[in-house]
Amino acid sequence: MSNAKGTLIVISGPSGVGKGTVVDMLLKRLPDAVLSVSCTTRAPREGEREGKNYFFISKETFLKMIDEGGFLEYSNHFENYYGTPRFFVEQKLAENKDVILEIDVDGAQHIRDEFPEALLLMITPPSREELVRRLKMRGTEDEVLIEKRLQRADYELSRSKFYDYTIINDDLEETVGRILKIIENRRNGIK
Ligand code: ADP
Ligand code: 5GP
Repeated sequence: MSNAKGTLIVISGPSGVGKGTVVDMLLKRLPDAVLSVSCTTRAPREGEREGKNYFFISKETFLKMIDEGGFLEYSNHFENYYGTPRFFVEQKLAENKDVILEIDVDGAQHIRDEFPEALLLMITPPSREELVRRLKMRGTEDEVLIEKRLQRADYELSRSKFYDYTIINDDLEETVGRILKIIENRRNGIK
């Protein structure tokens, strides 16, 4: 299928819902799509790699990049900054690639303002219990941080209505299949 115009695809959802897992699967099945790797000031988790999961930078460097207009959007939570590097996204869209952003709801709102054509997808858990189970299963955070992430989850979920689609990530294959269909429909001009 020809891809006449790159689409900006925003994927949001509470921490632990499965965004990273879903995005990895999407990238394998979408040869014309690339992932925008964000910058963050948080410390890497075990197994995370520089340039793959994030660019891990200092707060000082992050603030300098803000001043220089280097971010398409950024936000600050859990006492850390997260931002989308502007240059990469603009370059890939110009090359007619689809660009996937895995960002929070505040960032998504900025993207909506600057790119009204962006496709905004919210991923939600089948239940709060399941979200807790997944966060614990991932085993990357202590109890205090898990509690903070759950509080943030309520806020994220309350913003679902601003998204084009909300997808419940129950069965992983089904979730990925639904998203692929939504992207295909968007390319074919079907709302
Ligand atoms: P996020 O990127 O949203 O923080 P992750 O992709 O790290 O979430 O997923 C959190 C945990 O949930 C991981 O252990 C992952 O394997 C698991 N997971 C993701 N999707 C599903 C699913 N549909 N069913 C069960 N477990 C899932
Ligand atoms: P985590 O620390 O779990 O990797 O990410 C925490 C939150 O930051 C998630 O909701 C994630 O989507 C969001 N996030 C990651 N990168 C960016 C970014 O570049 N911009 C914004 N606004 N949020 C981001």
